[in-house]
Amino acid sequence: MLIEDLVAALGAQRVDVSEQTRWAYAKDLTEAEPRMPDVVVKVDSVEQVQTVLRLSRQYKVPITPIVGGFNMSALAIPECGGIVLDLGRMNRILEVNEEDLYMVIEPGVTWEQVSRELAEHHPSLRFGYSTAPPNTSVLANGLLDGQTNLSLRYGSTGQWVNGVEVVLADGEIVRTGSGAFGVSWCAGPPMPNLTGLFINAHGITGIVTKMSIQLFSARRYRQRYLLPAFDESILCDFLAKTAHEDLCDDLAGFSWPLPKMALGASPGTTPDPGEPTFYCIIDFSSNDRAELSMKDRRIHRLLKGYDRAFAGLMDVESTVDTFPQLKKLLELPARVDFLLDYPGGGMSFIGAYGPTSKWSRAITAGMNTLASHNYTPIVLLRPMWGGHYNLIHHLVLFNRDSEEERRRVRTVNEKICEGLLDLGFVPYKTPAWVLRRFASRLDPGFRKLQHQIKITLDPDGLLNPGKWLT
Ligand SMILES: Cc1cc2nc3c(=O)[nH]c(=O)nc-3n(C[C@H](O)[C@H](O)[C@H](O)COP(=O)(O)OP(=O)(O)OC[C@H]3O[C@@H](n4cnc5c(N)ncnc54)[C@H](O)[C@@H]3O)c2cc1C
Repeated sequence: MLIEDLVAALGAQRVDVSEQTRWAYAKDLTEAEPRMPDVVVKVDSVEQVQTVLRLSRQYKVPITPIVGGFNMSALAIPECGGIVLDLGRMNRILEVNEEDLYMVIEPGVTWEQVSRELAEHHPSLRFGYSTAPPNTSVLANGLLDGQTNLSLRYGSTGQWVNGVEVVLADGEIVRTGSGAFGVSWCAGPPMPNLTGLFINAHGITGIVTKMSIQLFSARRYRQRYLLPAFDESILCDFLAKTAHEDLCDDLAGFSWPLPKMALGASPGTTPDPGEPTFYCIIDFSSNDRAELSMKDRRIHRLLKGYDRAFAGLMDVESTVDTFPQLKKLLELPARVDFLLDYPGGGMSFIGAYGPTSKWSRAITAGMNTLASHNYTPIVLLRPMWGGHYNLIHHLVLFNRDSEEERRRVRTVNEKICEGLLDLGFVPYKTPAWVLRRFASRLDPGFRKLQHQIKITLDPDGLLNPGKWLT
């Protein structure tokens, strides 16, 4: 029997069949229906991952990898039951290479761990921070192609991945990127990009046990501004133009409800007359004071062209010094933990990457859809990778215990998603329902190739079934 064999191979302390534990892994923050796994296995090593995969294959039992389970797209819910493989205990930072600007991490390494490690031992380096809960996985974020405060400069986190070590469905180990030659994990090129088979794949092609991910050189001086804006289309124009100037590390926008909620307003909050509709963070840095001043002057000059579409620039550090009660607001968009306190605990989003030319239309359409379904329009924006593409998040908070609420969230998400796809945006952390609902829009050649890759890597269809189009 599977459970007996798991216990014999891994020890009873790593195998949990209690109802309470299984229920905890059956659901997440989203509106998705819970699915009970048969067993939760917590592993400490690559060898143990291999053992679990071999047993899953022997008994033809599905296997779903997870670390924090905070992906917000139901991607770690065990759709077909079976084994949930919790990789959180594999949490070593195996290498930080200051000269070659990368680190090698295990799946359980968290955002908090990386920021502490760099602050304490490698101050010459920096890594992005996300708004994700601090105890979630950096490696999983790389696999999800996530975004951080350095994504304007360096792109989505999937673009930072040099290579991975993966355990395939048959228990064999594969390394990709320059790490395949066994000496240095410094780069993806010039190897064929087999790493891409595992990014945005949601665990359906293999279990990643190590990742080499890029680090970046820290800057001595930093300037951050908060800029209130009164018109989202003008804001998008400013963000896109400024992104193309290559001045900033980060440009991000968030809609009016977020700062109000950060300061304690209830989620049903309404805008006050004359209140800005969006707030923008402008974040830039340099090793040279003169260069920082030059960037500062350029940003002021760019803003001059916009007349009264913005209120004045607020310097983040001095504003916090003068008004400490605003600290929470001015940490935006780095900290949004207050969103998790919503009664009923439900949080769902459609996050998408897409074209600059359609950005403002996509935002307005999504905000209108949220408002017409009586949801407070919580929206985040960020130009990515020098403005080559852009991020939009439309977020809803809801009572997860109410079936009616969950249905309403499904409806609003579907409408937002349809509007975004029409404009050329593609939902990231792509929920399985999006792929099923809009499968007819996918290029048939893409679908065929993806299917062939899947059956080559996972012929029994056991790896996170129900995700993508599996
Ligand atoms: C309030 C809030 C704010 C957030 N802000 C951001 C943000 O700013 N930027 C951002 O990008 N994300 C954000 N997120 C999403 C998410 O929290 C992060 O992407 C996080 O880093 C994912 O880690 P996790 O441990 O939750 O992953 P999980 O949900 O555990 O896993 C994610 C996916 O990867 C698969 N998986 C996990 N481990 C492996 C493995 N070793 N091999 C193969 N597949 C694996 C899982 O099956 C699942 O499909 C936010 C979430 C919340 C709740």
